[in-house]
Amino acid sequence: MSRIELTNLRKEYGNVVAVNDLNLTIEDGEFIVLVGPSGCGKTTTLRMIAGFEDPTAGEIRLDGSIVNDLEPRDRDLGMVFQSHALFPHKNVADNIVFGLRMQKVGKEEQRRKMHEVAELVRISHLLAKMPGQCSGGESQRIALARTLVTEPSNFLLDEPLSSLDAKLRRELRAECDRLHEQLQKTFVYVTHDQEEAMTLADRIVVMDAGEIVQMGSPIDIYSNPVSYFVADFFGNPAMNLIEGEFVQNGSAEFRSDSFTVSLPEKYKDISPGKGTFGIRPENVQVSKANGGDTRNIGLVEPLGKDTLLYFETAAERPFVAIVEGTESHSSGEPVELSFPGDNMFLFDGTGDRIRA
Ligand code: ATP
Repeated sequence: MSRIELTNLRKEYGNVVAVNDLNLTIEDGEFIVLVGPSGCGKTTTLRMIAGFEDPTAGEIRLDGSIVNDLEPRDRDLGMVFQSHALFPHKNVADNIVFGLRMQKVGKEEQRRKMHEVAELVRISHLLAKMPGQCSGGESQRIALARTLVTEPSNFLLDEPLSSLDAKLRRELRAECDRLHEQLQKTFVYVTHDQEEAMTLADRIVVMDAGEIVQMGSPIDIYSNPVSYFVADFFGNPAMNLIEGEFVQNGSAEFRSDSFTVSLPEKYKDISPGKGTFGIRPENVQVSKANGGDTRNIGLVEPLGKDTLLYFETAAERPFVAIVEGTESHSSGEPVELSFPGDNMFLFDGTGDRIRA
């Protein structure tokens, strides 16, 4: 059993509030991903859990006991960083057992555990090598093994894959997922990569400016963002977000230099004023010109299974639609765009989601 509770956790560096009275309970065995833009306070939060930073205020509990004053080594946590910092003059096997030596584990037991974790992260063939002879992906696996071997109840991972190329990142992401399934331990994982968060997390914690702005399952965050910020952060290609105005003109409308959209009945009482209209690229309906308003396709980007269609609008960012790969479209072709009412997202002038 291992539960991590953060209560009004705060960290100030001089005038900078890095973490602003954070409240979060991470359940035993959960895979939590803290995600947000650079500087939002994710690493500071993780470092406070690990014991590398002292909170300015607030409490950290592990399994109900306050651990604010415990040394990192007494917290039963395993930490994996972006820079794996292996000992360059020790071979892979010695790097892995280092933590066990510190714990004064017997030689036989060290060897048994070392082989077990090496097999688990698939590096048994590397044990005699020096770190300098290993690739980035292999080094990251060794760093994982070094943490796994000490059998902590909780794993704290700080952007562990960000120095790897896209293919390796995907591979090791799957590996983290598999390890979590197999070990059934609590994982707290920090990343600024929304895709990593979506694919790994049981629960995503979205942070901005030291605060939690939304928590939920990946699908919940994607389909139910509470704000412009969250809507914009998740999704690739990103949600189309168009600044404009809500008006009451007999019926409710959204107007901008790019689009005028009649809003569905559920928004009939919307307050007039500045706001944003959002629609995900996969929800934009593209049809052949048929007497309605048309727009010319700009860039056509075939991805194999799907094709991205880009449209120039008055907004800075191009408007994007995704159509199935088999549909053929060409640059310059006039098409009609429509937006199903159930897939629209509306945000008010402060960026908060407007609910029907
Ligand atoms: P990144 O993804 O860039 O690592 P992050 O979300 O992990 O960002 P933190 O590293 O937690 O963010 O930093 C949060 C805020 O605290 C930032 O404004 C940062 O500049 C500041 N900060 C972090 N560490 C220190 C420090 N040791 N001294 C002063 N300010 C710091």
